[in-house]
Amino acid sequence: MNPHGLMFHHFKDDRHKGGQGSISAEVFAHLLMSVGLDRILSASEWCNRANEGTLKQEDLCITFDDSLLCQFDIAVPVLEHFNKTAFWFVYSSVFQGVEEPFEIYRYFRTTQYANLDDFYDEFFDACSVFYPELTNEGFAMFGSSQYLSAAHYYSDADRRFRFFRDEVLGPTKYHALMAKILTKHQVNQKDLSADIWMTDEHLKYLHNRGHEIGLHSYTHPTRLSNHPIVEQKAEYERNALHLTQVLGRVPRTMSHPNNSYSADTLNLLTGMGITVGFRADMTLVNKRSNLEFAREDHANLIRNFGISC
Ligand SMILES: [Zn+2]
Repeated sequence: MNPHGLMFHHFKDDRHKGGQGSISAEVFAHLLMSVGLDRILSASEWCNRANEGTLKQEDLCITFDDSLLCQFDIAVPVLEHFNKTAFWFVYSSVFQGVEEPFEIYRYFRTTQYANLDDFYDEFFDACSVFYPELTNEGFAMFGSSQYLSAAHYYSDADRRFRFFRDEVLGPTKYHALMAKILTKHQVNQKDLSADIWMTDEHLKYLHNRGHEIGLHSYTHPTRLSNHPIVEQKAEYERNALHLTQVLGRVPRTMSHPNNSYSADTLNLLTGMGITVGFRADMTLVNKRSNLEFAREDHANLIRNFGISC
């Protein structure tokens, strides 16, 4: 085992419904104790050892992507109880009034339905009304595909939904369809987004207590490495500008949104003074640089330790 990060996304409690794959404060605490609290370095110690080349095989760190309010509300008290600091990788557009629909839709489907299957029923009904031919084709294609079959934590219904969203409809048609469903439920994106993300004040709180706030692009593109390098540069520079303005310090760490990057991306980040970066999986890369540390997803940790959620 090489030194790596523990990667956390969604958390749940009475206020934050959380939804699929989300974990409670109790499960988070249980997980940290299961991996071994003494193996978990503070964020600054991880950076120091990474830069000195002195990270040990067993070293771990805690990381949070996407600056979600549920992470702050639920995970921070646990971290403070254990006296730990973490990495927080932030995409800035949502701090500056831009609504990021994918996360909003996720929140919508976990809070507005008694269970996810009710949402899927409505989604596929709307699909067949607005895109009848595409829907028929999509079902035929999905039937013979192995789409996401390696992702053990998805049900067949989850896989079918993601196949339609990402492969059959694509972003434009998916947004149009979700807009119709949201209108039918009489909710709008702005109201939904108020409970999803942290604010600048949350970032300052974390920064002032020794946590490390790092880059995660500006708009969180689905496939950042497909964008021309000038666009990637704009994504990370706007992101860095936001964090520098809020925290009074230039960021030096990052994680790759959706694990998407190229050799050019790494050169760009190095040129911006980033010295520590994280992938979103445990894949070993041939020549691992300090911008490609591996991370284990909390879903895998829960399974490996046999923890029930
Ligand atoms: Zn992300």
